[in-house]
Parts: sequence; structure tokens; C-alpha cells
Amino acid sequence: MLRRRRTIEVKSPGQLEAMRAAGIIVAKTLALISAAAKPGVSTAELDALAEQTIRDAGAVPSFKGYHGFPASICASVNEQIVHGIPSRGAVLADGDLISVDCGAILDGWHGDSAVTLAVGSVALEDLALSKATKNAMWAGVKAAVPGGRLTDISHAVETAATQAGDFGQIIEYGGHGIGREMHMEPFLPNVGKPGKGPRLEVGVTLAIEPMLTRGTNKTVELDDGWTVITADGSRAAHWEHTVAITADGPWVLTEPAQ
Ligand code: MG
Ligand code: MG
Repeated sequence: MLRRRRTIEVKSPGQLEAMRAAGIIVAKTLALISAAAKPGVSTAELDALAEQTIRDAGAVPSFKGYHGFPASICASVNEQIVHGIPSRGAVLADGDLISVDCGAILDGWHGDSAVTLAVGSVALEDLALSKATKNAMWAGVKAAVPGGRLTDISHAVETAATQAGDFGQIIEYGGHGIGREMHMEPFLPNVGKPGKGPRLEVGVTLAIEPMLTRGTNKTVELDDGWTVITADGSRAAHWEHTVAITADGPWVLTEPAQ
């Protein structure tokens, strides 16, 4: 049995500023993708836009080549939950719901964020799904404060998701520590009782990323070795921010307005 680490790596104020710079590039990239995700556009085109934007900013797309992943974004359409591979054949249609996950490395520091986008005119139920997922993410962000424990965030995410309606709550995937690497200890579950896990200290940085579905929480990984879909074909949403814990509260490193 593995012993759980009781602490999480802490970053200095200067290191947080460096992560913020990476986070801003991710935010800018996702803003451009959000504007470009229209009917008739392929997810490969969105990927090209992302890679160009990240490289033009002097950063490196962290997803590209990550364990062999072939693109700079994950583009997960409709029943795809996460890790969808962009392709020229995946052309967005009116009514699609697409989750775009994006990461960038600047000066060795990582930013990681995801949005769910409505393509054209989307069913109200899908909009509600995305809104519930986004709100669950923000509930988790609010719980990222000094003195708490890791699963305070998990509990906040779960509570918001449960209160939002009858959504499938994905538990096989979740958030994570982030810094000099994209995925670091600890794993951050999206459900759980509060008050457990490592203590949240000033300088801790976490990616908070709930995934909800309109149906089951059972997942299937496709034969491409990446794409994760809902087992029942129901639609899914995914929102993510990279957050730093500061004495003044959570600092959302991948949100421009913060
Ligand atoms: Mg991500
Ligand atoms: Mg992540």
C-alpha cells in the first residue's frame, strides 16, 4: 500500500508569477478557440489555432507529445468526456457541445485549463450541463483556501454538482497538482468527504477540473487509446482552471480577469 503524501509542493511568489504567465497564454488560446468553434470548423483547425497561438507567445503546447498525444488540445465532442483527439474529419455541427482542454509551458512552468463550448444553437439541457459543470469548478476554486484540506475542494465540487441536478459525476478522472510538470501529486478527486488529504497551504497550485454527464458516470476509452466517452452515449462537459492558493484566497492563474 502506498503511503499518501501529507504535503503538496509549495511555490514561491515568483514561481506563482511564472505560472501565471503560462496561465495567461492558455487563457488567451482558449478565448480564441471559443470564438472560432463554429459549425463547419474541424477540431484539427482548432488545434492548429491553439498551437500557433501558444508558440507565437513563446510557449510550448504541453499536450503535444505527452505520452504520445498527437495534438495541442484535447477536443471532446458531445459524448466524448475528455482526451478527444482533434481531426480533420471531426467537423463541428450546429448543436454540438465541445470541451476543449489546453496546456502551455512557459519557462518550464505549466498552465492547464478547459472550457465547454456550445456550437451554434445547443439544446437547453446541454447548456444546463455545461453550466452545472462550470459552477462545480468554481465551487471547487472557492474551497482552495489556506488551512483547508485537499478533499474540501472535492466535497465542494461534488456538492455543487449534486445540487445542480441529476448529472453523472465522473470519478475516474479528476484534478491534480501542477507546476514544473502538468500532472503532479496529488490526485484531486471530484467527489469525497471534506477534511481529508494534504493540507492546503499558501503556494499550493492545483488544477481543478470536474466532468459531468447528462446520464451515466461510467466511462469507456476508445481504441485510439485516448478518447474517453460516456458508456451510455450521453453528452458530457468539462471545465478546468489552474489555481494557486494565496493568503488572499484562490488566484485563478488561467483566468484573465483574476
Ligand atoms: Mg487540462
Ligand atoms: Mg488537468
